[in-house]
Amino acid sequence: MALTKQAPGSFELGPIRPPSEACSLLIRVTRNCPWNRCKFCHTYKGEEFQLRSVEEIKQDIKTAKAIQNQMKELSWKSGYGGRAKEVASMILNNPRSEASYNVALWLYAGGESAFLQDANSLIMRTNKLAEIIRFLKQTLPSINRITSYARSKTAAKKKLEELIELHEAGLSRLHIGLESGYDLLLQYMDKGVTAAEHIEGGKKVIASGISLCEYVILGLGGRKMWREHATQTARVLNEIDPDFIRVRTLTINKKMPLYNELENGNFIRSTDEEILEEEKLFIEHLECHSNYVSDHITNLLQEIEGKLPQDKEKMLASIDRFQSLPPEERTNFIVGRRVGIYVHLDDLYDIHKHQVVEQIRHKLSQGSNQVDDKTMYSLTEGFI
Ligand code: SF4
Repeated sequence: MALTKQAPGSFELGPIRPPSEACSLLIRVTRNCPWNRCKFCHTYKGEEFQLRSVEEIKQDIKTAKAIQNQMKELSWKSGYGGRAKEVASMILNNPRSEASYNVALWLYAGGESAFLQDANSLIMRTNKLAEIIRFLKQTLPSINRITSYARSKTAAKKKLEELIELHEAGLSRLHIGLESGYDLLLQYMDKGVTAAEHIEGGKKVIASGISLCEYVILGLGGRKMWREHATQTARVLNEIDPDFIRVRTLTINKKMPLYNELENGNFIRSTDEEILEEEKLFIEHLECHSNYVSDHITNLLQEIEGKLPQDKEKMLASIDRFQSLPPEERTNFIVGRRVGIYVHLDDLYDIHKHQVVEQIRHKLSQGSNQVDDKTMYSLTEGFI
């Protein structure tokens, strides 16, 4: 892939960031994914991995600073006394570029955090990455939190001293896609990492002082491996004891190699209700001290959140509450959730919403009581 030429006054952005970094300044330190083989992932498929030069990244940071200065200037001219936040809200409605939208959103949220893209920033040489992080903090001193994605295999390969160097430079948190702790499933999905490497990488990150967020994909084991996926993932997380466990639910689209596995019958998907049973088993086996977060639109019950171990019973009670509903109410909730009308179980008691969902359910089930699995999957995938 050719180097991306940026319009003057703009800087390069990668395609994704975690939901929790929605308002962070995005600085792209590498392009795409150096592994790029996971069957369940489509984000960088067909794109070649590239390291970016330190100079190129520094130029992007300087451009972000220049955009910030322009907004401050505009703020003075508009009578807001140099406060960029008010101007940022105007720019959000009419941004000149994706980069100026990102800077405006970042300033609007307080200008305190930055996220380094793309899939595995740790793959950069440690001294170069530390130099970037220091430069970012010097250039934009309001930033007090810098986070990034990383692969646990790369974290496992780094020396502890290198991770400490990055932490001291200002790297606050790493987001790692654990996905599963079950070796056969990791192998099947071509994740390129073993459970033991997940543990080694995760523990090293924690020992360095960098906060760690591990992502788990509910439903990844499908009907064949759901039990082992739940229990082995819990086992690995218990050993790592990360600060955060974030769950999201498997979705499959045609750009993923997993789609072919699905089509040829090698992979059999679990339904929403089966995935909830898997999540129950997973939570039952968690014996760590992490914050469990369910902040993803694909998750059926977003209210399953809390601090472990003290909130474990409360989290399991949310699952029990759903499972104790009559079958038609469970279907109503799943449809309502999947079409974006419901957020929490309590929404079932909103009579207006309930009626609207009933009409949709009736239409989707074509007169019968059940909506078929394929329709349900396509509704979930509509969000992605
Ligand atoms: S390592 Fe991450 S970004 Fe790369 S292919 Fe796997 S899931 Fe996708």
